[in-house]
Amino acid sequence: MTETRIEIAGAGPAGLAAAITLAKAGREVVVHEAYKEVGYRFGSLYQDFQGLENWTTEQNVIELFEEQGLTTDFATLACYKGTAFDYKQRRYEISSDQPLFYMLERGPGPNTLDTALLKQAQSLGVEVKFNSRLREITGEGIMAGGPKAADAISAGYHFATDMEDGYWVICDDDLAPKGYSYLLIMNGVGTVKSCMFDDFKQEKQYVARTVTAFEQLVDLKMINPKFHGGIGNFYVPETAYNGQYPVVGEQAGFQDTLWGFGMRLVISSGLLAAQSLLTGENYDQLWRKQLKPQMDASVVNRCIFSLLGNKGYGWFLRKKIQGDARDSLRKEYQHSLLKKALHPWAKRRYQSRRV
Ligand SMILES: Cc1cc2nc3c(=O)[nH]c(=O)nc-3n(C[C@H](O)[C@H](O)[C@H](O)COP(=O)(O)OP(=O)(O)OC[C@H]3O[C@@H](n4cnc5c(N)ncnc54)[C@H](O)[C@@H]3O)c2cc1C
Repeated sequence: MTETRIEIAGAGPAGLAAAITLAKAGREVVVHEAYKEVGYRFGSLYQDFQGLENWTTEQNVIELFEEQGLTTDFATLACYKGTAFDYKQRRYEISSDQPLFYMLERGPGPNTLDTALLKQAQSLGVEVKFNSRLREITGEGIMAGGPKAADAISAGYHFATDMEDGYWVICDDDLAPKGYSYLLIMNGVGTVKSCMFDDFKQEKQYVARTVTAFEQLVDLKMINPKFHGGIGNFYVPETAYNGQYPVVGEQAGFQDTLWGFGMRLVISSGLLAAQSLLTGENYDQLWRKQLKPQMDASVVNRCIFSLLGNKGYGWFLRKKIQGDARDSLRKEYQHSLLKKALHPWAKRRYQSRRV
């Protein structure tokens, strides 16, 4: 059989990870990107900081990327220590022996994850067509178009600052309903956001309160702040095929339903979809085995977290993030017997806004 060209709709991390794997195996790949550059939804001039979580696996995520054949040529800040606050502004120090997460930049800039993946794909011969919204795939292909509905929104500012590198979190429903507010600083640039899972209409009010809280708590200083926001879609699909085509990343709903640390899941789904095209294995079987247990646990975690409320967040920060935070969170993300028992309840309770 002659091998046909593979078309991928979407140059996010999921689509590019798939393209890289396919190109490495010698396949001809064309990636279509609806916008004029990669990572456009994270801001063209002003980009965004995100956390690449390092707690769901024992193995370090950067080592894992290298093993998976993905570039690590993007700027990161390894985050070992940070501070959380509850609604009464009580402090909780967070620490871990290994980085809890790596702060990195998203968007089209020179040191971002998106640009690094783009460069790697292009160096392997992948053709990336910008300003090209793929409406229909005719031959072999993968759909990687990003979120389709807002189950959470994250809004705030990206800015210059003279503050030191670090990360800070506040769990307070008056600042970020059923979510959390965060402040990330790396190399004189910062992102402050309210990541809310409810009451999106009051977005501006929550962002303003978040900024005020960080000004009071850690003397937040923003120079030239630019507003930025985006949506997250959290959904455990029955199938991640659309007809014959594998759907990867957030388009399929792959995300961390608890807190939105979805980057690793979307990249993994891209790698698995590529594997399925190369080997003929069934993509649904691959992701159900490798990704679903963590996603199911994360739905249970979301339902529990949503019930905690302001008083409960303090308990959570005291009890669940104590000791080595990386170890504690890894346990929370395991599909343990307890999580399995709670899953039917959580599945009934959690409703994605995707129809
Ligand atoms: C504000 C914010 C903060 C976040 N913080 C974190 C974090 O700290 N940690 C974390 O792990 N995750 C975080 N996330 C989630 C993370 O950004 C996403 O999970 C991830 O980017 C999804 O990758 P993706 O490849 O599935 O989709 P995307 O990154 O959305 O890429 C999809 C691409 O497809 C393009 N496209 C869509 N339709 C078509 C089409 N028909 N043809 C061609 N192109 C198309 C889009 O333009 C887009 O560029 C955050 C998200 C937001 C919004």
